[in-house]
Amino acid sequence: MVVNNKLKIKHSDTHSDKDTGFEISSDFERFNQINDMFSRAFWDDTVRTKLSDAFFDSHRVQPKGKKAPGFRQKDFALRNAAWAISDTFSNRGAEKGTREGFQSWMECDAEIAAEKLHIENVQEYTIEFKQIAKLFGADLIGITTIDNRWHYSKRVDTREFIPVSNELPGNYSHVIVMGHAMDKDLVDTYPSALASSAAGFEYSREAAIVTQLTTYIRSLGYEALGSMNDTALVIPYAIQAGLGEYGRNQMVITPEFGPRVRFSKIFTNMPLTHDKPIHRGITKYCTQCDKCAVACPPKALPLGPPSTERLNQSTIKGVKKWSADCEKCFGYWTKIKTDCAICMRVCPFNRDFETLGGKLFMRLVDSPLQFVALWWEKKSGIAKRVKPDTWWQSLIK
Ligand code: SF4
Ligand code: SF4
Repeated sequence: MVVNNKLKIKHSDTHSDKDTGFEISSDFERFNQINDMFSRAFWDDTVRTKLSDAFFDSHRVQPKGKKAPGFRQKDFALRNAAWAISDTFSNRGAEKGTREGFQSWMECDAEIAAEKLHIENVQEYTIEFKQIAKLFGADLIGITTIDNRWHYSKRVDTREFIPVSNELPGNYSHVIVMGHAMDKDLVDTYPSALASSAAGFEYSREAAIVTQLTTYIRSLGYEALGSMNDTALVIPYAIQAGLGEYGRNQMVITPEFGPRVRFSKIFTNMPLTHDKPIHRGITKYCTQCDKCAVACPPKALPLGPPSTERLNQSTIKGVKKWSADCEKCFGYWTKIKTDCAICMRVCPFNRDFETLGGKLFMRLVDSPLQFVALWWEKKSGIAKRVKPDTWWQSLIK
């Protein structure tokens, strides 16, 4: 039995906004998924362009034109192959307008067993359950309570790109949030089609893990609904579940893998204990750092403090936070025909925390000596991109 021993297991009670650091104003509104950039790129003429169509097409067919390193046939082939399992899941509901994992929750063939597993000691059972999630391949796992504020007010029917009901088909009390670590060597080559393979591998992996774990829970007699980017915002759920802290680059930064993590979730009514939000000095560090914002090619990330300002409809209303200008960000993605995560690559938390240097950095961040970590990073400058050809050559060395 191979078990990924990177998994972090924690237990605690529930949370409040004070614990998470969320600042929600009275004009808060749940986010309507029709307004996210990946939906707007299909119905909003201010976003949909020949470039955005070409961006989506490139995930199926190698784009024509210049072939810079990282954007050659092999790079696109690897990226599109990495996404293949995720794509298979998301395409299977095309006729119903349910793009599973992105614009709709994930269907599960397993019936809910008539007999429920008797759980006597919930705390002990939660430990066992987390080990099972680890067995299926989760790198991080946290559990929190359902919080309807993070559920989309509407989801999207992808046949016509219209908003439709997002009411969950069942009764759920908890959300299991899983983190899936991206390959650092690939991330270090962002921006490139090659680097995007790191995202594709994790989406494909999470589609499988979510399906397996959902099947497991349903076979134990409890309700379970699998979800990737669909149905609810995963970032606040990951923070509530204690997996990391919010960063200026709009990502959840984890103590184990920094920002290099994709998240999935499962809604369930199986009895489980909840985890608490963590405070390791990461968000505080971001208030003094601006590497991601400086390195962002279209200048889509904010340099100032968190705010409730909405640059356009793709920002949620009434949450004080660092928010990207998603139109600028997605516009850049369409120009390079692949996703960009320069703001992930240059982040000082994109390091190996198993090394002595990584451990020391995290210790400093989480201490009154945080200014030393900031000074250290300022001296190092902005991390350079690893050339995609160097990555390919490393395969045969
Ligand atoms: S993904 Fe790229 S374009 Fe978007 S915010 Fe990050 S660095 Fe900027
Ligand atoms: S680059 Fe700096 S400011 Fe941006 S997310 Fe990372 S630590 Fe925070």
